[in-house]
Amino acid sequence: SDGFAEKVAIISGAASGIGRAVAAELAAAGASVVLTDLNLQGVRDVAQQIRSAGGNALALKVDVANLGEVADATERAVAEFGALHLAVNNAGISGPGGRLADLDVGEYLALIEVNLHSVFYAMRTQIPHMLKAGSGSIVNVSSVLGLVARAGATAYATAKHAVAGMTKAAALDYATENIRVNSVHPGYIDTPLIVRADEDRRQGLIAKHPLGRLGLADEVAQVVLFLLSDRASFVTGSQYVVDGGYTVQ
Ligand code: NAD
Repeated sequence: SDGFAEKVAIISGAASGIGRAVAAELAAAGASVVLTDLNLQGVRDVAQQIRSAGGNALALKVDVANLGEVADATERAVAEFGALHLAVNNAGISGPGGRLADLDVGEYLALIEVNLHSVFYAMRTQIPHMLKAGSGSIVNVSSVLGLVARAGATAYATAKHAVAGMTKAAALDYATENIRVNSVHPGYIDTPLIVRADEDRRQGLIAKHPLGRLGLADEVAQVVLFLLSDRASFVTGSQYVVDGGYTVQ
């Protein structure tokens, strides 16, 4: 079985896109979910929908780049639902464009804070509670740009590659303690992050995927749920590609 009944999960960036899809599916599968986002109204709306469908959900305003706010959210999750077993560290932003030597240093550092240090802050606060609970499963949301690079994406590709590295290191640190840590690597997914792209860029992105379309947030959520579940009990430290063939070419 999936083993989600009685489990407590925290999901960042849950107001939109992939995080929102993961939160809804996890709640439907029986987990109690804590939804965090910069967009408080957004996570409140998602939590309200989950509760109307009979689920348990708590919404919190959190900046994932702020260790204090991340630590508070983890403690609130445990205070509300009694434990923490599952985490999806998902919130992220797209990077500043341009070639490496043209990058603004402040923008580079800000991207690294939100897309990389956030994952450290999250796991740093989550893992002690998973040790206490006796089990844990963490999924960190990276990208195909955590496996391959592309021109004009230094900051984003650097952060996302490092998320994969941090995931492997954490998986080894806790392998003997029943805590699994994996990363997922989506191709381009049809979320608000991408919708902003104009039609030409959108067609260009579609052409990079052998399946001939962008992915759906729900298609990433399915893989995240598998990795969180007991069905993935022998999977740790892995990089799961959900990319319509993007990295095969
Ligand atoms: P999205 O923009 O739809 O949702 C991201 C959510 O994160 C938003 O609700 C936003 O408010 C929140 N967020 C942003 N910065 C935050 C911060 N500092 N603190 C808290 N919340 C913050 O994006 P998405 O497409 O669902 O992306 C989710 C993750 O998937 C990101 O890590 C992204 O890099 C990754 N990803 C997305 C794609 C894609 O094509 N959409 C591809 C590969 C990887």
